[in-house]
Amino acid sequence: MAEILVLVDHVDGEVKKVTLELLTLARSLGEPSAVWAGPGYAADAKAKLAEYGAEKVYVADDADIADHVVAPKAELLAQLVGSASPAAVLIAASQEGKEIAGRLAVKTESGVITDAVGVDSDLTAELSIFGGGVNVKSRVKTGTPIIAIRPNSTAPEASQGAAAEERVTVSLSDSAKAARVVERVKQEKGARPELTEAAIVVSGGRGVGSADKFSVIEELADSLGAAVGASRAATDAGWYPHQFQVGQTGKTVSPQLYIAVGISGAIQHRAGMQTAKTIVAINKDSEAPIFELADYGVVGDLHTVTPQLTEEIKKR
Ligand code: FAD
Repeated sequence: MAEILVLVDHVDGEVKKVTLELLTLARSLGEPSAVWAGPGYAADAKAKLAEYGAEKVYVADDADIADHVVAPKAELLAQLVGSASPAAVLIAASQEGKEIAGRLAVKTESGVITDAVGVDSDLTAELSIFGGGVNVKSRVKTGTPIIAIRPNSTAPEASQGAAAEERVTVSLSDSAKAARVVERVKQEKGARPELTEAAIVVSGGRGVGSADKFSVIEELADSLGAAVGASRAATDAGWYPHQFQVGQTGKTVSPQLYIAVGISGAIQHRAGMQTAKTIVAINKDSEAPIFELADYGVVGDLHTVTPQLTEEIKKR
């Protein structure tokens, strides 16, 4: 069976959910091999990768990889593409993942597809283009297909793999060492899930009215175990931090459920959320463009509707 390489996303030795999604997807395309880059590889990580079907784990865990931003990961993958000749390489479509995918494509003279939301067994990928306005099917015809997949595109399903370990030494080129990480600042890990990985996202827009009133959004999010997002109007107004902005110039999310509260649905906002499986909108204007996209809509004042919704959810 064809080997499919999956680059593992990990933080503090913990495998991120998106990797489990990619391994699940990889199983429908061939035989998944996980690629671990950087320090922190241990028994727990190996067990997790095995649980989601990794038949092999390539481990390159020297500190040099973590010390030099993204280039070493692209070099490691290029080395493996050369030695293992996989049928495809799957990478999470995070900011870092997309950069790695681009660099890897150049190094291996291969085609690259980013922001895929699905891949068929013949490696045809479905993806969002033009800021999310159009969905197309694409297939790489040159080299090894390199496909960056959006988080939450596949539901992770366990299936035991052998996770046979193979140690890899990557010889970094001078250019890979050009940029060095000088400091890592750990972000406060809140109780909420990470925005780009969350299964449910509740976002607030200009309609929320002020920074204080964002508590309405947070309370609804917390009742659902969701992440909080915001439109650019809300982040530009300083009501919510920029790191939570969803859209063309913010983060791209693809959750199972996206609740847009007091958001009009501008094209630039849609670009970051329209691949959500189910979209719910709360807006006082029945003509707001977000309703064209929404599966369910409530026309009403968000300050009345949202707390009622939160109360109802808390009862269940
Ligand atoms: P508005 O468009 O002002 O909509 C507010 C909505 O709230 C309205 O529909 C209104 O009916 C409703 N409302 C008001 N009060 C209430 C209430 N009490 N109850 C219920 N509903 C209420 N935007 C992004 O979001 N993300 C991006 O990444 C992004 N990138 C951009 C990049 C570029 C190059 C440009 C030009 C723009 C970008 N924008 C982005 C901005 C985008 O065009 C919109 O201006 C922005 O999305 C509007 O945010 P909003 O929907 O919160 O505000």
